[in-house]
Amino acid sequence: MATSKLSPLDFQFCECIGEGSYSKVYKGVSIRNRKTYAIKVLSKAHIQRENKRKYVNIEKNTLNLLGRHRGIVTLYYTFQDTKSLYFVIDFAKNGELLSLIRQLGSLNEPLTRYYMTQLVDALDFIHSKGIIHRDLKPENILLSHDWKLMITDFGAAKILSSDEKQRLLDGHGLCSESEGSTNEEVEQSDGLEDMDEPRCNGGATDGTGSFVGTAEYVSPELLKYNVCGFEGDLWALGCIAYQLIMGRPPFKGSSEYDTFERIVGLRYSFPANYFVPDTIKDFIQHLLVLEPEERYTIEDVKRHSWFRGVNWDDEDSIWARPAPKLE
Ligand code: ATP
Repeated sequence: MATSKLSPLDFQFCECIGEGSYSKVYKGVSIRNRKTYAIKVLSKAHIQRENKRKYVNIEKNTLNLLGRHRGIVTLYYTFQDTKSLYFVIDFAKNGELLSLIRQLGSLNEPLTRYYMTQLVDALDFIHSKGIIHRDLKPENILLSHDWKLMITDFGAAKILSSDEKQRLLDGHGLCSESEGSTNEEVEQSDGLEDMDEPRCNGGATDGTGSFVGTAEYVSPELLKYNVCGFEGDLWALGCIAYQLIMGRPPFKGSSEYDTFERIVGLRYSFPANYFVPDTIKDFIQHLLVLEPEERYTIEDVKRHSWFRGVNWDDEDSIWARPAPKLE
């Protein structure tokens, strides 16, 4: 759990393992317990200058709310010094799922099913906590030392109030991006006390109407009606399944505009010269559905024949199994 008692001096900082738009991520070893972590260092000046406070707060609040799940990076500690905020999280030794797709070209069926099973289980957990991720994509899925996946990057997430969550679970409509703040259930804890509270509830638009998600994975309802619900994450799930088996996302245009046109026109295909098992095609076709209410829900996904034999109540059957051969 997050605590303010630690400081950068409690960690030995090793190499920089990545850079985001307002952060640098280092491999770090705790002096206290010798465990290796990823330490995300966020420059306060940069956050303030770029007006990114909202995203940083949402990321922290979301990870705190999620606690521990094998398929989601755990936030262990947060602290700060005069210049930076520090998030100490699980170290994903094997990098991004996107790099694995690029390295292999595409994933074979057993490997695709292996990662999709983990992704569905983790997403089900996220939704059960009343959180919509809103930026699911292979760059935001990391791989641990033993090649299990971990969802990360909750900066665009939406935390629903219990009323909103109930409404969505009952199937009574999606949240408009303009609806009021929903973050009051989350305690504002240490680490960001000199930063502003989030001024809106995150989102795929930044309050000025600018798009902040990722073009290839954005849902048609967000593009057309500026609404988001759990269904948006299920659309992204379909895009990811397609990308794992095909090696590229289903909707990729020559420009962002072209990509959006393809999404709202549902213009994607399975090339005839590339074999994809019918079960996977069927699975993807039930997720890449323009109308959110006709799209598979997470429960439909879990019941799909592709996952026959998966015991969703038995975590170990999903998470303890070693990864199939990486090919
Ligand atoms: P942006 O902020 O622009 O969306 P980002 O989300 O990728 O970018 P970060 O979350 O700061 O930014 O991550 C930067 C890079 O560091 C990532 O691309 C990833 O490769 C690496 N990285 C992030 N978190 C971890 C982690 N827990 N373990 C290992 N590598 C990580």
